[in-house]
Amino acid sequence: MYFIANWKMFGGLKSLNSLHKVKKFFNSFKKNKSIKIVYCPPNTLIRPMTKILKDSHIEVGAQNCHAHKTYGPFTGSVNSSMLKNVGAKYVIIGHSENRQNGESDKLINLKIKSALKAGLKVIFCIGETSQQKRKKITKQVLNKQIKIGLEKINDKNKVLIAYEPVWSIGSGLIPKSNELLDTIDYIKKKIKRIKVLYGGSVNPKNIAELNLVNNIDGFLIGGASQDPKKFIDIIKKTYI
Ligand code: PEP
Repeated sequence: MYFIANWKMFGGLKSLNSLHKVKKFFNSFKKNKSIKIVYCPPNTLIRPMTKILKDSHIEVGAQNCHAHKTYGPFTGSVNSSMLKNVGAKYVIIGHSENRQNGESDKLINLKIKSALKAGLKVIFCIGETSQQKRKKITKQVLNKQIKIGLEKINDKNKVLIAYEPVWSIGSGLIPKSNELLDTIDYIKKKIKRIKVLYGGSVNPKNIAELNLVNNIDGFLIGGASQDPKKFIDIIKKTYI
């Protein structure tokens, strides 16, 4: 099971103090469990975070990257090799908060290619909006996002899919268990041997319900991951 923390645009150096608690918990909890924790902080915290987390088995990732593979005149941007250079092992690509700002499926495809080339693993986010859900076109939407996003990508074993319904992110709402089971099954049938995580309002109160959906390979956790107690609770409750 994967537990991926997406800190979004939150956190300064002081926030890193909270990691000592998670590190201590994980060092004693991990034994005999096939469990992976990845923290994706803002880029400013990647390097100091890797230092705190060394010897902990907790890995660090980034939240986005530029599609350009090498250095270039792209003010304010960071490419995947630069993220790798400061210690990132993963990168989230295609998050709906970036899609809403104009990131297209084609651009996402280029970003995934550049990230894989740089040696990063990719957490590829897909998901439908509430309007698309209402129109009952979730599967068509996911199909298009997958088809273009993963076009001409062979090493899919380095890609994790994060199914994140847009209407669920930060809203407190989660999909009905049978719908989630069906959607994840659909994604797994489309892409053979792929790991599929769920993301959207995961918290210690709803994790038991989400864990009843038995084809989920982990969770991408936004808001709740910033609170070490909630994050630890989510992990503990998954293994009860
Ligand atoms: C996210 O932004 O990836 C996410 C899952 O957010 P939240 O858990 O806050 O809904």
